[in-house]
Amino acid sequence: MRTIIHDVSLLDDTGLDYEGYVTIDGRTITSVGRGQCQEPPTSFDMRIDGKNRLLLPGFINAHGHAAMSLLRGFADDIALETWLSQKIWPAESRLTPPDIKIGTQLAMLEMIETGTTTFTDMYFAMDQVAEAVEEGGMRAVLGRGLVGLTPSGEQALQETRDFARAYHRSAEGRITVNVAPHAPYTCLPDFMHKVLALTEELALPIQIHVSETAKEVADCIETYGATPVAHLAQLGVFAYPTLAAHCVHVNQTDIEILRAHDVHIAHNPGSNLKLGSGVAPLPQFLASGLIVGLGTDGAASNNKLDMWEEMRLAALLHKGVQEDATLVSAATAFALVTSQGAKALFLEQGLGHIEVGAPADIQLIDISGPRYFPRHNLLAHIVYSSCAMDVTDVFVDGKLLYRNRTFLTLDRERIVAEASAIGARLG
Ligand SMILES: [Zn+2]
Repeated sequence: MRTIIHDVSLLDDTGLDYEGYVTIDGRTITSVGRGQCQEPPTSFDMRIDGKNRLLLPGFINAHGHAAMSLLRGFADDIALETWLSQKIWPAESRLTPPDIKIGTQLAMLEMIETGTTTFTDMYFAMDQVAEAVEEGGMRAVLGRGLVGLTPSGEQALQETRDFARAYHRSAEGRITVNVAPHAPYTCLPDFMHKVLALTEELALPIQIHVSETAKEVADCIETYGATPVAHLAQLGVFAYPTLAAHCVHVNQTDIEILRAHDVHIAHNPGSNLKLGSGVAPLPQFLASGLIVGLGTDGAASNNKLDMWEEMRLAALLHKGVQEDATLVSAATAFALVTSQGAKALFLEQGLGHIEVGAPADIQLIDISGPRYFPRHNLLAHIVYSSCAMDVTDVFVDGKLLYRNRTFLTLDRERIVAEASAIGARLG
């Protein structure tokens, strides 16, 4: 299958825009050029007119729990600890594996229509999640959430092993698996040692929630005499490639520990704001050279799965909090949801770039609206002026999933109806 997107706007390495074309062979971008492609039109199976469209890398969501879309609006305006223990965990215990598949599909509808092509997931019934990803066509990094406080902890370790063996690099390589201990406060040292033994056995990266709230940090210091970051480092977690979600309440020593171990960070500004958790020191992470991606977290705590909004928040929030307009430039914020996001997930190899040889994970946005004029700086318009609903087309791995705002791999009406039925049952 050969595809050309012609007469389309593109951004060069400096963020300036130009008119040109992109060709895709199978799953890969094979040319990116200015002006008109010299190959005859007949050499392409599909030709997409890119007039009034800007072609961008698909966005990468570095942290989330897709099926929590079923709990959107279920429990709002409550602090994290109460939200989790009294509302979310009891509701999640009533979700069945088929529910998880519908919830993941509901999340994928929202992610695709907002230009996200890769997402990270930490949840349970992960075979259902993987099936949804395989059928829906997205790229995903999946981990069976591990909680050591319940009798099912041991079983979850075995499920991780089975899941990794069955699904790592499945769906033509679109699915990768990692080991997902939920957090230091739900995985006590004895259990965490078992998690690390499994990580060693499977040779996969770790994803974990770290220092999300001030209370978590205070409790950890009281119990172990160390911050969660120092505690996890002492346990040996960071000896493995690790993606740490949140890191809201970290001190300078914590940042140095994270940097020394090359821990990657998923910054979730929207979720942290909504749960009143605080604001992670993103500028300090970036200044120290840490690899950072952006995430939405679950739709129960955001309540959107919209990376355009996270990108804009990341660019605005730190300027305001630190009273410095030079922090987190538009170019930086854009990189966090594209190339840096790919690095954060240990998925480099061109992902997050529009370049020859990169996987064809692409979104087209309609730039004919007034918010895109005049064209002083299209990159600034993307970060500060754009809106997710301008996304018109989405490719993942060379396959069109969304064309002219129509889903090609997911049955929107059925998924919405089934998700509504599950919601009614949850009460
Ligand atoms: Zn989370």
